[in-house]
Amino acid sequence: MKNKTVREISRFLDPYRITDGRKFRLKDHDPGDTAGLDSEDKPEAKRMLASGVERMAELQERLYASDEWGLLLVFQAMDAAGKDGTIKHVLSGVNPQGCQVHSFKQPSPEELDHDFLWRTQRAAPERGRIGIFNRSYYEEVLVVRVHPQILAGQHLPPRLVGKKVWDQRLEDIAGYERYLARNGFAILKFFLNVSKKEQKRRFLERLDAPEKHWKFSTSDVRERAHWKGYMQAYEEAIRGTASEHAPWFVVPADQKWFTRLVVAAAIVETLEGLDLAFPKVPDSKREELALARAALEKE
Ligand code: ATP
Ligand code: MG
Repeated sequence: MKNKTVREISRFLDPYRITDGRKFRLKDHDPGDTAGLDSEDKPEAKRMLASGVERMAELQERLYASDEWGLLLVFQAMDAAGKDGTIKHVLSGVNPQGCQVHSFKQPSPEELDHDFLWRTQRAAPERGRIGIFNRSYYEEVLVVRVHPQILAGQHLPPRLVGKKVWDQRLEDIAGYERYLARNGFAILKFFLNVSKKEQKRRFLERLDAPEKHWKFSTSDVRERAHWKGYMQAYEEAIRGTASEHAPWFVVPADQKWFTRLVVAAAIVETLEGLDLAFPKVPDSKREELALARAALEKE
């Protein structure tokens, strides 16, 4: 029997979950979708998010205590799609000791001297933990694909860089994720699907508000010129790497409150599916506990 919270929120997942990418088309996904909820339902959505966050905290404690499974959450999106806010709101109730957040920026010279999975694997979560990747190895088939000069700067032996390089990278990523899954790491990948129009609105909002200027970068605006290229790259990435053990969630991101609800639902559903239990205490330990109680009570 599924937990009540999960039953309540998992209906927001099916339309956005991709486990087989072969027929995936980005244009079938509306960034403004809210699964029939409108702004009047916002308080209800917030309540569901809060109960999802609460349940997540309980499950995370079990994840940590049982120390077998790990969870990797990958967040990918265009700028201003709400990665930071989603991570902040959705994981707000989780014990910080059980979480590891990593943001991946342009690679350093040291990172470029390694294979492209090196830096993310070093940051991969331990068993019992939730690892959050704010951007990830997927940048290697997104920004690098959109800007071929980045690939040219990766010191790869030229004979290895042919027309198939992107398919090969996707194949390697899919293989890597299968490897992680077989080692006991559940993987969820979120593409926060914001529309070009909403991104413009959010950029303008940042420009209007002095306290948001720090978040604004002119290069983000330049990347808008490559929107189509990015969308193609995302589509190919999702097509090539969606699987049962590492599904993609194409999360509508024009309404932040809805984005958060979907992401929370996916995490709760996944943790719930791991059947996490607190470790059973052996009889010898139980005796020890009884002795400790007796000693404390005698004080
Ligand atoms: P925010 O803007 O909210 O702080 P961000 O993730 O956009 O977060 P930035 O420092 O603005 O952080 O951007 C990081 C940049 O690094 C992005 O443009 C991203 O595409 C780029 N990047 C990440 N990984 C790679 C990579 N492997 N190769 C090249 N560029 C990368
Ligand atoms: Mg940025």
